Amino acid sequence: MDKFNLLEYVDKISDITRNLSDDLWNNPEISEQEKNSANLFRNILKNNDFIIKEIDGMENAFIGEYGNGYPVIAVLGEFDALPGLSQKIGTEHSPIKEGGAGHGCGHNLLGSASLGAVLAIKKYIDHSGVKGTIRFYACPEEETLCGKVKMIKKGAFDNCDVALSWHPFNANVSFKNSFLANNSIKFKFFGKSSHAGATPHLGRSALDAVELMNVGANYLREHVIDQARIHYTITQAGTAPNIVPAEAESWYFVRAPRRKDVEEITERLIKIANGAAMMTETRVEVSYVSGCYELLQNDVLYDLTYKNMKKIGAPLYTDEEKQFAKELQNTLNLNDVKVEMNKLGLENEVGEIFIHDKVIDEKYLSQLTMTGSSDSGDISWIMPMNFFITACWPMGVSAHSWQSTASSGSDIGKRGMEYASKIMAGMMYDILNDTTIVEKAKQELKQRTKDFKYISPLMM
Ligand SMILES: [Zn+2]
Repeated sequence: MDKFNLLEYVDKISDITRNLSDDLWNNPEISEQEKNSANLFRNILKNNDFIIKEIDGMENAFIGEYGNGYPVIAVLGEFDALPGLSQKIGTEHSPIKEGGAGHGCGHNLLGSASLGAVLAIKKYIDHSGVKGTIRFYACPEEETLCGKVKMIKKGAFDNCDVALSWHPFNANVSFKNSFLANNSIKFKFFGKSSHAGATPHLGRSALDAVELMNVGANYLREHVIDQARIHYTITQAGTAPNIVPAEAESWYFVRAPRRKDVEEITERLIKIANGAAMMTETRVEVSYVSGCYELLQNDVLYDLTYKNMKKIGAPLYTDEEKQFAKELQNTLNLNDVKVEMNKLGLENEVGEIFIHDKVIDEKYLSQLTMTGSSDSGDISWIMPMNFFITACWPMGVSAHSWQSTASSGSDIGKRGMEYASKIMAGMMYDILNDTTIVEKAKQELKQRTKDFKYISPLMM
């Protein structure tokens, strides 16, 4: 079995990965509720002679291990869905279940591609007798940005040499830098209730504090770095207009390209919360929900990913699939599509092609970052990790939209999934046959983290 046969084998087992992806997509489970989804992975891995190692206190997380000895390769698999993004496979907005969950981030494809890659490389290990250990990591709670951070705290990633990761998106890119570091924080204010009409002077409004804090945060925006993002929702705002709200709460995300910027902005946000409490004579409790790091660059793994992506080549699409992509893209504003694809240097191709069918050239990569956050970022600080995306959605479709749910359930999504599976299988083939790749990647990590100590953003 050579590399060519290995990649062919990924296609041979596509029934398994396609069915798994459909099962996940048809039964979307949101963060912390992914019990059945995790079990689908457990069963397939068990049936394929992987040893299942459970993770204490995390029912939906586990490791499926196969092989022996050095190097130990971690392949990350996610499978949680998003609330409110239920959507049929189609080109009109039409939820399967009104208000229901949906795979708007394509994690049904994410986990399934990773599973396909480990099943394929297991076959190769059996045939070749090559030394090495493959670990499929079932990683729940990605959308709440804490699953992997918790798993790191529990030691689940100890003794791994290298990690492979990917994500469904609207283009084919191997990233050098990516993700914004993030903090997720809740601010709960406590005041005093009273009759809003008869005795307002006796009340102290927690909702006033929330609103004043938000005003302060909106002024703060002008005085933080351009790339930082601050967003909030009000999660509790009182019960009725005639009762001065005694309790109110807002939930903030702070994001920036570097963890240290996130920490600094968080400190300033806490000052604003304290100021709002002082102004309204209320009290504030600050609680950290989660947090994560940005992706740490690793050129060795970036190169390996890019080479495999180029060599394997982007998938070919049928006319039917292209038509579906075109119609789905037509639901977006063309200008928005151009702005979105401009980030990848692809604005000139908008209108010509509807699904990205090449691999983004290296020259665009230095300024390229995904402006979401992922708890995968933390992994990249404790072991060398790659990150790439494949086109699972038409160009211009963004994550967390009804269009991305529709596309993640469609054949376009599955083509991107199979491509990702092949890229990771190909990378593992290279790593198992040339352990100097791991040595060099680890050396690079060591240099980049010379004065760094990983501190978990989970301050629970
Ligand atoms: Zn995602």
